[in-house]
Amino acid sequence: MDCNFKEKNLTRCNCTYDPCPRKGICCECIVYHRSNNEMPGCYFSKAGEATYNRSISAFIKDYR
Ligand code: SF4
Repeated sequence: MDCNFKEKNLTRCNCTYDPCPRKGICCECIVYHRSNNEMPGCYFSKAGEATYNRSISAFIKDYR
């Protein structure tokens, strides 16, 4: 199924991991990271996102 919102989502996506095939397809992004006990990149600060560490512990550390 095609994502009808991909182009719009990409304008708001702060993820800098460009090779990712899920960029702009938020539902796939969330499922992927949840299945790995992680958070999507858009939950992180600019500096936190840039580490590419999407773990929950990295998220908590990012906001301490
Ligand atoms: S947060 Fe993860 S799944 Fe989502 S676009 Fe970035 S690298 Fe891809």
